[in-house]
Amino acid sequence: MRQLQELRHEFVEFIPDTLESGVLYISIPYATTTHLCACGCRNEVVNPLAPHGWQMTFDGRSVSLSPSVGNWSFDCESHYWIRRGRVDWAGAMERDRIDAGRARRRMDIDRDLSGTTDETPKGLKAGWAQRMGAFFRRK
Ligand SMILES: [Zn+2]
Repeated sequence: MRQLQELRHEFVEFIPDTLESGVLYISIPYATTTHLCACGCRNEVVNPLAPHGWQMTFDGRSVSLSPSVGNWSFDCESHYWIRRGRVDWAGAMERDRIDAGRARRRMDIDRDLSGTTDETPKGLKAGWAQRMGAFFRRK
């Protein structure tokens, strides 16, 4: 298996039954793109074009897809960008960065959560306790 470095685009109406490796098939009428996984595993990758799906850019010569193509459901778990007909592979470093980003976001969330309890004005807390106390006394 050899990782492809480029994909040639082909505008089609219907996605053909037999896909050729190295070709990104784009169907405008059906707003979808299909290609064989660029890692060479020959799994079929379908990227529907939609406002919340993928966006395709055609500069008159080459095609870009965004966001990146992440084939997490395949054994290869390949992850790459298709930019101007080139396949830009997300390296291991990129993956670490993504994980690091996730960890950072988690820390931010933890900070936010602890921050809210720390920064709650004392009066508000007391007021709440009083209300709760009143509530229990009423019973
Ligand atoms: Zn693959």
